[in-house]
Amino acid sequence: MPIELVTIPCLSDNYAYLCHDAETKQTLLIDAPEAKPILAALDRRDWDLNEIFLTHHHDDHIAGVAEILRNHDAKVTGAAADRDRLPNLDRAVKEGDTVSLGAESGTVWDVSGHTVGHIALYFEASKLVFTADSLMACGCGRLFEGTAEQMWASLCKYAQCPDETLVCSGHEYTLSNVKFAASVDPDNASLQRRISDTAAARASKQPTVPSTMGLERATNPFLRPNSPEIRTILGMQTQTDAEVFAEIRRRKDNF
Ligand code: ZN
Ligand code: FE
Repeated sequence: MPIELVTIPCLSDNYAYLCHDAETKQTLLIDAPEAKPILAALDRRDWDLNEIFLTHHHDDHIAGVAEILRNHDAKVTGAAADRDRLPNLDRAVKEGDTVSLGAESGTVWDVSGHTVGHIALYFEASKLVFTADSLMACGCGRLFEGTAEQMWASLCKYAQCPDETLVCSGHEYTLSNVKFAASVDPDNASLQRRISDTAAARASKQPTVPSTMGLERATNPFLRPNSPEIRTILGMQTQTDAEVFAEIRRRKDNF
């Protein structure tokens, strides 16, 4: 039985996710922006939380941990590299470690760039990847700590996820992301479709996440530095993918 996924809007534009295995009744939370909506989502389904997986140390991903732990006897997992700035850590993980849920095993990836120590979690069998502020819907996280080269290397890890994989990212930034994407990739028909789909979803207050890996590959400029059309617009025909990625990121910062 595949993992059941629940998307929980938190704060003004964050997302947390619940993963539930019906067989064992195990439940895993990805990030804890605030306790209230997460506790409500658990209560509504009568689920007990077993584990909290923290992607990185920013407050809008961890602020709810303490209150959630007052209500659920859950273990907290986070990056070993971030051990000193994550709350209540029970288990410190690194690239290649696994997090199990029922019969499934998720793989931890180091996807540093937004922060150094940012991690992702990939459930291959259920085709779910939790990317938080690394790969985002039609975007990628701002480079607060890592270099563009580091973020590009991190994004390349997602190349192994099949197109149907659900990309569960940390924020509702999609509308501004698609507008920026169109500035560097204006003739991309899939992107034009995504712009109208995103506008329609937000007009009816629907989340634009999770997206799919296939849609990201077709429309997310941060995964497309090898696109001849984007390279032409940037005047960067001969540079490396990492250099083109860095220029796209720089333009987004000033958009
Ligand atoms: Zn962040
Ligand atoms: Fe964030």
